[in-house]
Formats: sequence, C-alpha cells, structure tokens
Amino acid sequence: MSDASIPVLKLNRVNKRFGNFAAVTDVSEVFAPGELICIIGPNGAGKSTLLNMICGTLPLSEGSIEFGDIAIDGRAPEQIAKLGIARKFQVPSVFESLTVADNLRLSMPRGADSRRLEALLAKVHLLGDRDVAAGNLPHGKKQWLEIGMALAMEPKVLLLDEPTAGLSVDETRDTARFLKDLVGRVTVIVIEHDMAFVRELGARTIVMHHGAVIASGPFDLIESNETVRDVYLGRR
Ligand code: ADP
Ligand code: MG
Repeated sequence: MSDASIPVLKLNRVNKRFGNFAAVTDVSEVFAPGELICIIGPNGAGKSTLLNMICGTLPLSEGSIEFGDIAIDGRAPEQIAKLGIARKFQVPSVFESLTVADNLRLSMPRGADSRRLEALLAKVHLLGDRDVAAGNLPHGKKQWLEIGMALAMEPKVLLLDEPTAGLSVDETRDTARFLKDLVGRVTVIVIEHDMAFVRELGARTIVMHHGAVIASGPFDLIESNETVRDVYLGRR
C-alpha cells in the first residue's frame, strides 16, 4: 500500500566527512512512498549523521538526495521541512501544562478545523487522553504526542531518532504497533538500537557499521545475517 502523493526519497552515494574522519560512506538507498524503514547499527555507525543530512541540518560532503524530482541536498532545513520532510527531535518539545489536544492544535496549520484534530488524535492513539495535561502523560504517550505534533503539519516523510529511548518494555511494544499503523500514510524512517523494538516493527531494516550500509532487508533475514551478528556481538 502506498500513497501516490508521497514522493520517493532517494539517497545517491551520500558521504559525510568530519575532517579526515568518514562518518558516512557511499550510502545509496531508495525509500518508497509510505514505507516504514528501520536503520540500526552500533553507536557511532553514522545513523544520526545520515538523518541530519536528509533533513538538511548537516551538509553532505558528497552525493545527492532527491525527493521526487527535487534535489534537496544543499537546501536549508526549513525549506526541506516545507517540502514535507519532518523530524522529531530527541529533546521533548511538548508544553507540559497544556492538554494533549491543545498541544496538537498549536502544531496544526492555522485555520485547521476540529475534524483534523480528531483525525490526528486518532492517528496517534490519544483520543482518550485529549484533555490530559501533557505533563501527566506516561512516557510512551508523551512520545506519541510528540510524533503527533510532527504529524500535525501532515508531512510526507517522518524521521525519528531513537523514539523508544527511556520507554518501558510495554511502551516500546506499543510504540512499534503505533508506527506500523502509519504504513502507507507517511514514509517513516526510524533509527533504533533496541532489537526487541526492531523485531516488533518487522520493517525493512538497514544496518550501518562504520558509516557504511552493511546489510538491508526484512528483519528476520537481517537478524540471522552472520555479519550483522558479528557487528552486534563486537566481533568485527
Ligand atoms: P550514530 O547515530 O550511529 O550513533 P553518529 O551519526 O552520531 O552515530 O556519529 C557517527 C560518527 O561521526 C561518530 O564517530 C561521531 O563521533 C562522529 N561525529 C558525529 N557528528 C560529528 C561532528 N559534528 N563532528 C565530528 N564528528 C562527528
Ligand atoms: Mg545517533
């Protein structure tokens, strides 16, 4: 299932160097409209750097990034956001004293009607929590609210960097279910290192190590891949 209004996101031999250090090397990937993709890899593999290049907060050293027929590399982050590529940051950005509904309303475009708010509340599984102050939400739901705030602008691509950090086992599993419900409506690229979460997502998984993609495919194949196991067990 895919949404024809979402452009394909394409990375062509993307490289990032910090001085002589190669943080990302020759990453080429195609993200289909409405696809859910997980990027995993040990600390320092280059995952966040890759995400930063997609959303424009870091310039590429080499390569290009296309969103449909638009080359987005070299554009300012605000321009890239305007094209529909949203990012949820790791730092919390909710207003704790405001209700869930008010937090979402603040993130929606001016003039958006109440039906859009209802749809958004449903999308982030918070219909029953609309009048709860954001500060009183359990951790997991606070994450969903933040994702909801990113979705309020109706982005075409959503980038998430370790959305399960600090969540309980149950909250982590619920978050995986929640993200799976977005399949087909928005392209979601999620960086993670919690293997239980990635297993639950069951999405196409890209493995990075020392800046390069070393494997890509369905999670069950990735999990049984000998090279990937070596990397995670620290054998290479
Ligand atoms: P990951 O998100 O996979 O843990 P990062 O993308 O954050 O990895 O980092 C990849 C590598 O690039 C790390 O070795 C990190 O120290 C280095 N790095 C990241 N940002 C910078 C920077 N601004 N300047 C220098 N080195 C950096
Ligand atoms: Mg990171």
